Formats: sequence, C-alpha cells, structure tokens
Amino acid sequence: MARVIMHVDMDAFFASVELQRHPELVGQPLVVGGKGDPSQRGVVSTATYEARVFGIHSGMPLRTAVRLCPDAVFLPVDFTAYRAASARVFEHLQQVSEAFQPVGLDEAYMDLSHRQADAVALGAQLKRDIHADTGLVASVGIGPNRLLAKIASDLEKPDGLTHLTADDVPGRVWPLPVRTLHGVGPRTAERLATLAIETIGDLANMPLARLQAVFSARHAHTLHAAAHGLDDRPVQTERVRKSIGRERTFQQDCRSSGRLAYEARVMLDDVHGRLQQRALAARTVTVKLRYRDFTTHTRSRSLGAATQQIDALAEAVEQCLFAHHLHRAVRLLGVQLSGLEVAMPDRQGG
Ligand SMILES: [Mg+2]
Repeated sequence: MARVIMHVDMDAFFASVELQRHPELVGQPLVVGGKGDPSQRGVVSTATYEARVFGIHSGMPLRTAVRLCPDAVFLPVDFTAYRAASARVFEHLQQVSEAFQPVGLDEAYMDLSHRQADAVALGAQLKRDIHADTGLVASVGIGPNRLLAKIASDLEKPDGLTHLTADDVPGRVWPLPVRTLHGVGPRTAERLATLAIETIGDLANMPLARLQAVFSARHAHTLHAAAHGLDDRPVQTERVRKSIGRERTFQQDCRSSGRLAYEARVMLDDVHGRLQQRALAARTVTVKLRYRDFTTHTRSRSLGAATQQIDALAEAVEQCLFAHHLHRAVRLLGVQLSGLEVAMPDRQGG
C-alpha cells in the first residue's frame, strides 16, 4: 500500500517564540543564539526571515551575523520557553495522529497512510489549529515517504502547505541543490562536486556505477535512491504514550459552569476508558479552556501517585475547572491525563 507521510516544521521556531514575548520586535531582523551577545562566542540558532535577507543562517557564528547585519537584535536561547511551546505544538499533532515522530523541538513526521484522501485537508487544519492556539506558524509537507515530505515542507516556507508525489520528482525536486537531500552533508556534497553533481537531478542522472567509484556501495545506493525520491524509512513513533486526552469545540460558546462540569466529566469518562484499555494509570490531570477571544489556558493537578481511580481523577478535573475563570464564554474544552505509568492491577481499580 502506498504510504502518506506528513512532515511538520515550525517556521523560525525559536525566534517566533521570542517574538511572542517581545512583540515590539516584530518586523525587525532578530537573531537567537548563544548568550545573545554577538561579541562572545556562540552560533545562530534561529534567525527571523527579516534577518535571513542579510545572509544570516543557523549555525553561523554570532560574530559573522552581527557583521552582516549590525542592526539585528540578538537574544539568548531559552530552551525552557521553546520546550513549553513545542509541547503545545505536539499536542495538536497528537490530535491528528498518535503515530508521530518528533525530531528535535520543532519538527515531526506523521504516518497518515490510513487517511490518504484527506491528508492535505488535515495539514491545512493542523496549521490553523497550531496558529490559533500558539500564534506560531508551521510549514507542512506531504509526500509518499519521509524524504519527500521533508523536501515538501521546505519548498514553500514560511507558512507552506506542499504535497509532492512521485510524479513531481523530476519537475520540482531535481532542480534543487543536492545538499537538500537528507544525508548529503558538506563532505558528501564536495565529493559529488568532483563528479560535476550540483543538483539532485544531476545525481539522479549519474549512473550508479560511477557513484560506486567514489562512494561505498551502500552509500552510492542510498544517494541514487534518494535522488529518485525513494526512501523506505518508517516513521518511528514513541512506544510509551506521554498523555491521553480529548478536546471538544462547542457549536456555540459555553457560558454555563454547570454544563462545563458535565461536559468535562463526559470527556474524562471517555479518556479514562482509554486509560483502562491500555492498562495505564495517570498522575496528572490537565483541563484546557479556550475562550471566545482564542486565548487558551490550561490548569493541571498532580496526584500523589499515578492512579486509575475515576473518583480521584474526577475530583482533580473539578479542581482544575474551578481554577479557571468560568464567567467567560468558552469555545473549546480539553481534558488530558499525563504522567502515565503501567497500572498496578492488584492495587488499583475502577
Ligand atoms: Mg523549523
């Protein structure tokens, strides 16, 4: 069966998270890297598109970046903030498919082979949901394998949504520089240049035997296959789930705290059923509310130990709910269980 793989890649992720905290910097060239002091050692982690215009890119020494654009604003990296933003983004991915493979904080692959027909619509919806919830922009690529999905997500960055099929490879992939291919680093690119290979198309048209004269048999084969858009690496999903949850958007904003409490309990019962099915226990309960103005707030309660007891979980849900401002109109309600552990059947029940 043909596969459908989606690659989600956040645009200028670290810099975008910083811009949310420093909205006054929007539109200015911004560089996030090291300690944020370009007179010290350190490299660029992320630069906004306004800074990239000056030739600044990830991995470049901060000193070079400040020479290219003396007016750029430099900020230190703050992984705590990026991890928190990343967790929120990945929550949305999990709503689409439980089978996703994170790559660092701002990228992930998903296998959507079971949803062939609506993969593009799912990608569009995912981009909208991530943006509505976090204010961050994602580029989404869809393809028959990881290689093409990743190339696709990069093709129309930022804010891209690109679908590549095997038929698109000659027209859209072959003109790209060979460095675009996964696994082609600077050293491989240098050796390819000795064969006059600059683009992926050059590589695709090179007889395998000539590649084998320069590279090991295995490497030559991988390069040849990649240039033809072939890649059979699976999406490797994490074996142990980190959370189980449900969300619901109301047809009409909900203004009644009684109704919210009722809906939260219905959702908890559903989530609890899945917890039991998987023989797991949960330590932390999180209730998420999105208000009419699209601001989203979450409240969590952690129990002393992971449990499967519905009463204890329900009480924690109620505590979370009433820690929210229930006088506001609510458009989305979410209930999530995390801190999952394998349940101890002899000590825990219903
Ligand atoms: Mg990215």
